[in-house]
Amino acid sequence: MDFYQVFQQHTWDEIRESIYQKTSQDVIRALQKSGKRDLEDFKALISPAATDFLEEMAQLSHRLTQKRFGKTIQMYVPLYLSNECQNICTYCGFSFDNKIRRKTLTEEEILQEVAVLKRMGYEHVLLVTGEANQTVGVPYLQKVIRLIKPYFSQISIEIQPLDQDEYEILVAEGVHAVLVYQETYHEEDYKKHHPKGKKSNFQYRIQTPDRLGAAGIHKMGLGVLIGLEDWRVDCFFTALHLRYLEKRYWQSTYSISFPRLRPFSGGLEPKVEMSDRELVQLICAYRIFDEEVELSISTRENEIFRDNIIKLGITSMSAGSKTNPGGYVVEPESLEQFEISDERSPQAIASVIQAQGYEAVWKNWDRLLQ
Ligand code: SF4
Repeated sequence: MDFYQVFQQHTWDEIRESIYQKTSQDVIRALQKSGKRDLEDFKALISPAATDFLEEMAQLSHRLTQKRFGKTIQMYVPLYLSNECQNICTYCGFSFDNKIRRKTLTEEEILQEVAVLKRMGYEHVLLVTGEANQTVGVPYLQKVIRLIKPYFSQISIEIQPLDQDEYEILVAEGVHAVLVYQETYHEEDYKKHHPKGKKSNFQYRIQTPDRLGAAGIHKMGLGVLIGLEDWRVDCFFTALHLRYLEKRYWQSTYSISFPRLRPFSGGLEPKVEMSDRELVQLICAYRIFDEEVELSISTRENEIFRDNIIKLGITSMSAGSKTNPGGYVVEPESLEQFEISDERSPQAIASVIQAQGYEAVWKNWDRLLQ
């Protein structure tokens, strides 16, 4: 049974109702439990009833995170390779129907961008592309990975979903982690947000982590785009997915991100707004639910929020990011995928992390040890 079959055993409306029916007693039970929390506990922790327990949740999340990860924050940076995309996604600046100049970096341009990232101190890079198999398919990615491997100890990718054998090729090239966000688990509305291109195939996308697990990936990243649908239900399905994957592909490790929909040129307004307090609640809920999972926050979030979330459960952060191909030096004016909210330099972020008694870690893993 793959995850799509597990997913089909639940309906959106039933899950929604059961989350909204959780009471203070359910939240207290989840907080006081010793040992692993289950999915009913997670529902209670993300429910409206838990908003009165934010302080207790934050303290517990802080303790559990320090116990497992110490006082460290891993640093990573995205490198956008291309804005070419054959999909229409209603929330993205790179969508096929958005009339922008398309660009894919050449090897020479990639090396220019890499030089800037190295001067910033980065050892962990996240390669990002749109979905354009002719231009940025597996052969292009193989070439890029070979080109930049000497400069980074960790290479992650956020690209189009691939078949298992294609992932196996990239794992053999040295890819450490693959991030593949479901965007939303609301199957009907997923189709409205992805009307054209390969991404419109909900089933292929939701089965992607299964193919990654089977391909032996070291780490995979999950998440939804918060703002498309009711975040509580979408995040329940993310937690369900995580628990399924951890049991089935126990050799892999996992991370979760919680991007909130950000403005972009000609963009979509969020259907559901999530407040800062609710995002804190969600981050703490994920940590209490799962002590092992890495939790990552990007520069989509603003300075004040990012500064305050460091101690509450986060384990990795980006800084100094550009979300356009060539954004660091080659073509800084090209269209961004979404607007950055925290524009401080990596060194400024590292100082903020240190001021809170934490260490900014640039390199925690070495390919030679793989
Ligand atoms: S979200 Fe990804 S697949 Fe969709 S338009 Fe943007 S780059 Fe393309």
